[in-house]
Amino acid sequence: MPYDDNNIFARILRGEIPAKKVYEDECVLAFHDIGAKAPVHVLVIPKGKFVSIADFGANASEPEIVGFYRAVSKVAHDLGLVENGFRTIANTGVNGGQEVPHFHVHLLGGKPMGAMVQD
Ligand code: 5GP
Repeated sequence: MPYDDNNIFARILRGEIPAKKVYEDECVLAFHDIGAKAPVHVLVIPKGKFVSIADFGANASEPEIVGFYRAVSKVAHDLGLVENGFRTIANTGVNGGQEVPHFHVHLLGGKPMGAMVQD
């Protein structure tokens, strides 16, 4: 699937839509999910144009990949999620239920997150 420059996260990266930012560096942005499903629900996205985790892992540069996962860890630490644990989710494609076609990792925590997936 080609990257859609008008997806909502591309628009957030361009500053066309506001977001409640929690972290930003040269290759990553993290912000609160607008439809929070937990007391803490943050999205971490690379600034590069990658549709999914599959696209990112295959096509991002090593500095982008390292920078991204360092940022995921930093955000989890900074938000106080590490001590009691949290969940990371990267939905991909139709079967994964991905709504926004720009790679993102959800960080969910602040309460026990329950079963991993619904039966
Ligand atoms: P996906 O289903 O693609 O893994 O998750 C997309 C997420 O983006 C959803 O949890 C949804 O609430 C969030 N989202 C959609 N539009 C916006 C927006 O305009 N701002 C923010 N902060 N989050 C959004």
